[in-house]
Amino acid sequence: MSSGCCGTGIVELGQDGPVMADVADLPVVVIGAGPVGLAAGAHLVERGLDVVVLEAGDRVAASVAQWAHVRVFSPWRYNIDGAARRLLEDDGWTAPDSDWLPTGAELIDDYLAPLAKLLGSRVRLNAKVTAISRLGYDRVRTNGREGVPFLIRLADGQEILARAVIDASGTYATPNVLGANGLPAHSEDSVHVDHALPDVLGAGRETYAGKRVLVVGAGHSAATTLLALARLDDTPITWAIRAGSATRSYGGGTADALPARGALGSRLHALVESGRIRLLTGFFTHTVIPGPDGVTVVSRDPSGHEQQVVADRIVAATGYRPDHSVAAELRLDLDPILGSTRALAPLIDPNQHSCGTVPPHGVDELAHPEPGYYAVGVKSYGRAPTFLMATGYEQVRSVVAALAGDWEAARDVQLDLPETGVCSSSLAEAQEQRVGLATGISGGLLTTPLPLVSVASGDGAGCCG
Ligand SMILES: Cc1cc2nc3c(=O)[nH]c(=O)nc-3n(C[C@H](O)[C@H](O)[C@H](O)COP(=O)(O)OP(=O)(O)OC[C@H]3O[C@@H](n4cnc5c(N)ncnc54)[C@H](O)[C@@H]3O)c2cc1C
Repeated sequence: MSSGCCGTGIVELGQDGPVMADVADLPVVVIGAGPVGLAAGAHLVERGLDVVVLEAGDRVAASVAQWAHVRVFSPWRYNIDGAARRLLEDDGWTAPDSDWLPTGAELIDDYLAPLAKLLGSRVRLNAKVTAISRLGYDRVRTNGREGVPFLIRLADGQEILARAVIDASGTYATPNVLGANGLPAHSEDSVHVDHALPDVLGAGRETYAGKRVLVVGAGHSAATTLLALARLDDTPITWAIRAGSATRSYGGGTADALPARGALGSRLHALVESGRIRLLTGFFTHTVIPGPDGVTVVSRDPSGHEQQVVADRIVAATGYRPDHSVAAELRLDLDPILGSTRALAPLIDPNQHSCGTVPPHGVDELAHPEPGYYAVGVKSYGRAPTFLMATGYEQVRSVVAALAGDWEAARDVQLDLPETGVCSSSLAEAQEQRVGLATGISGGLLTTPLPLVSVASGDGAGCCG
């Protein structure tokens, strides 16, 4: 029987059958070594609890690495978790300038990679979780359920037991589809689609320059990508949105509460007016047809009216959705609209909240009927685009306190997200003026996602682009 509690606290299942272990001695398994998963690891270490962080990628923060070129809109002071900071500072680390807006690459190099290094062998790379259940229990079996360990199955077939699971696997790997109804467009799988915020002016320049590019989506990611594409010569750009007009995407112009956001919308508006960007409104992507001369993208609106466009590259800036299928054998209580927990949904509703106005929340709002399983981080928000790292850090602080039995701390949830401070594009503008660094807000590299104030269109607009 292959089993045992190695240095990382993993109890694996051998071919000869399960090894029953005292559940309390098992590690807490964290799924995903992104900013929130690593923060969970730091809190667990600080509380003296055994932890294993399983990361699907071959490096930590594999999803952030995919948007490494993007400069975030929240400064360092909101991007560093408290327990992580304490661990790092004890090791001699110095925090970056708290007012600086890091790129994804800086987030990894200056914070997440050093943190993962400190967590050491507790972080396992190339460890993709494919399913979570309870040892010997399917979703239906109740008696004694709470007393048995979680069973976590990896892509390589290995199985790991855990006393609790903190799922911080994000949503980056499950972008929304092109199809306007939420279903994939016909033949969508047969064509290559780039997802939000490709590095158009950097690594992706050759891919886009001179190509007919179609950008689908009405949010800030789409706007940012469109403005970047407009800087490439001889690159025909088409922008397709479901709405009948782009007024929402243009924002308030000079009257916008956030001037930089208004400026971005005004620039986009001007590019559309000048014909540099061709705007297709009422575009409900229905079918994609690959052909020798590009991909024909066909829209069919609810009345049956069709229009089409031919493109060499398609960028889908249509947002993300959570994948709860790994937890299908657990008892989840999901909001039918957002896919967050039901208790969290009203607190993060993008129709009511910007990223800076989400109220503090923790273990109580994140709990499912399955005790010991918590989805945290951007995954916890489901389809709501209002997530901020700072919110995720408070979530894991609270969840880990609860796992440690410190319910007073778990329920003392606090967030310091000044509405006009944490996701304000004026910060990006200030940084640009301070160091001459282009952030994408006022005419530079166009890589800073803009904040969301309220979203009703569901076209993928959001706080984080
Ligand atoms: C372009 C962009 C800009 C953003 N800007 C900001 C900003 O300015 N400020 C802010 O606060 N927030 C911002 N966000 C939102 C959010 O904070 C980030 O998405 C953040 O990375 C979320 O952290 P996370 O740890 O929840 O998830 P992720 O960073 O997505 O990490 C999830 C990790 O889980 C791993 N994983 C996935 N599936 C599995 C599996 N099955 N098994 C094991 N591992 C798995 C992934 O490889 C990944 O490393 C931005 C998001 C994007 C996309």
